Amino acid sequence: MELSRENLKKEVGQVRSSFKEEELTKAEKSLFWEKKGNVALIVFDSVGEKANKLSTPNMLRLCEVLMEIETSREIGSAVIISRKPTIFIAGADIAEIQTLNQLGEKAGETLAKLQGVFTFLEGLPIPTIAAIHGAALGGGFELALSCDYRMVTDGPETKIGLPEVQLGIIPGWGGTQRLPRLIGLEKSLDLILSGRQINGKAAKKMGIADKLTPQELLEEKALAWAAELAKTRTKRSYEEKDLKRRLIDTVPGAKFLVFEQAKKTVLEKTKGHYPAPLKALSVIRRTYGGPLAEGLKVEAQAFTELVGTPECKNLIRIFYLTEKVKKDKGAAIEVRPREITKAAVVGAGVMGGGIAQLFAAKKVRIRMKDINWDAITKGYQAAYRIFKKQLDRRKMKQNEVDNVMSLIEGTTSYSGFKHLDLVVEAVVEDLEIKKKVFQELDVRTSSDTILATNTSSLSVATLAQACKDPRRVVGMHFFNPVDKMPLVEIIRGPQTSDEAVAALYQLCKKLGKTPIVVKDSPGFVVNRILGPYLIEAYHLITDGVGVVEMDEIMEKFGMPMGPCTLIDAVGIDIIH
Ligand code: NAD
Repeated sequence: MELSRENLKKEVGQVRSSFKEEELTKAEKSLFWEKKGNVALIVFDSVGEKANKLSTPNMLRLCEVLMEIETSREIGSAVIISRKPTIFIAGADIAEIQTLNQLGEKAGETLAKLQGVFTFLEGLPIPTIAAIHGAALGGGFELALSCDYRMVTDGPETKIGLPEVQLGIIPGWGGTQRLPRLIGLEKSLDLILSGRQINGKAAKKMGIADKLTPQELLEEKALAWAAELAKTRTKRSYEEKDLKRRLIDTVPGAKFLVFEQAKKTVLEKTKGHYPAPLKALSVIRRTYGGPLAEGLKVEAQAFTELVGTPECKNLIRIFYLTEKVKKDKGAAIEVRPREITKAAVVGAGVMGGGIAQLFAAKKVRIRMKDINWDAITKGYQAAYRIFKKQLDRRKMKQNEVDNVMSLIEGTTSYSGFKHLDLVVEAVVEDLEIKKKVFQELDVRTSSDTILATNTSSLSVATLAQACKDPRRVVGMHFFNPVDKMPLVEIIRGPQTSDEAVAALYQLCKKLGKTPIVVKDSPGFVVNRILGPYLIEAYHLITDGVGVVEMDEIMEKFGMPMGPCTLIDAVGIDIIH
């Protein structure tokens, strides 16, 4: 597609005609521009929505705004900013990606037209700045990449990235083209192939952002910078490349090595089961260093091939389910969940140590009780090992590790248990021992302390019988290793209160986990599915199938680990 103004207008007009008037009017109110001296301030503030999304009506509106600005003679530069408190632009509208799912070849045409809007933005004769506070993800980041400059805020809300591969697609609005041009192959492959998000400080360090600023000063500083740029109308020049990048780009064979290494990393992580990162890699391999227009075509074609795959459909489904959890409360009736600030875990074994680490990492004070100091020391060591990894990866500093470790307090007695919001029982999987622990907890805690069990298989109802008030007894089933596994089953016993369920649901979210509320039935959900699988593995072993061989086959099939490795990791006693 020729990107003359007239051409784009015609193409966009065609897309426009397929939308209702009210959708277009809403977009008009959501995206507008103001004159600030000779700077155009483009404001994105989606009406009635928490997040700014680049739906097609919003893209069309953006195109309209850019065309107005282009013809306004006094305007010498432009700033794009959001008025949402924690979001710049969250990305494309995923509901629309789902409809592209069914469009087949036509998806590519639609995409190419919308790509044209960003190419138009990039080609504006005046310098443009994306002033980013909050999430700038997917299409939101691609929009920022089409601007000449980027100013980002330094707070925790700012998250920048191209998470498309996590939805089974690749960036489709120039991300695979403009990011490598901006920061080089190595750094861009890292971001595009993993889909990981970075903060403002990292974006500045990587060369994605030109300036870093506190949130309060973002608009003022961006406008002042734009006013300065307007004097000379200086567009960005891409010449300032660092030495390493120059070497990769010019030394024969260097690019080949970077691509091969990236492919190896992707295959190690995905075992070849996810097509999107490999496709992104092949697009960049084919187009890096070539003309942008060609690259965009290759990108759009690859996007179209991916958007109809079952992997994409299912990953989008998972995305929606995860989003649903963020909004849910876990209990049907309206309860205000109690905030858990003081907790204890009874049992400092594999799970107890992990649970203590997780709570401490999220700044929840936790007592860790066991029957002797040897066991408690092991629990401490298990927690420290996890923090130490973060220390080694420079994700934490020593004083931060010391601080969180100080939130874990070992004990062999129940002293102080009267003041707790929650106790999680994680002692050995033995009904009689657990019942005894619950009898002790019943008298050693205050009557409103929530009593949770981490049991993998025992009945919550039976354990609740050990307590005078069964309403406060609930299952809280973490998975091993606790710091890595996202799911937590919250098991509602027949008499468990809504208050207890809602409090744990909220706590799980605070701990960064995905809670599901399940019935008190054998194996709950996960182990109920896992059980037959492991029993089958056992039958195969007794039939003479090799342990290593079986694990290798199941890993090839797509399991993160084979059944025998899993049995070892969980513990043969617990599996039994
Ligand atoms: P573990 O054997 O590693 O640890 C159990 C700890 O409980 C030991 O340190 C032991 O000294 C302590 N203990 C025993 N009796 C006690 C008492 N009366 N008071 C205080 N401490 C006592 O076991 P684990 O693997 O951590 O499993 C604990 C619970 O978590 C079990 O119910 C298990 O089913 C469940 N679980 C385990 C896994 C797993 O993969 N290991 C996963 C999910 C849930």
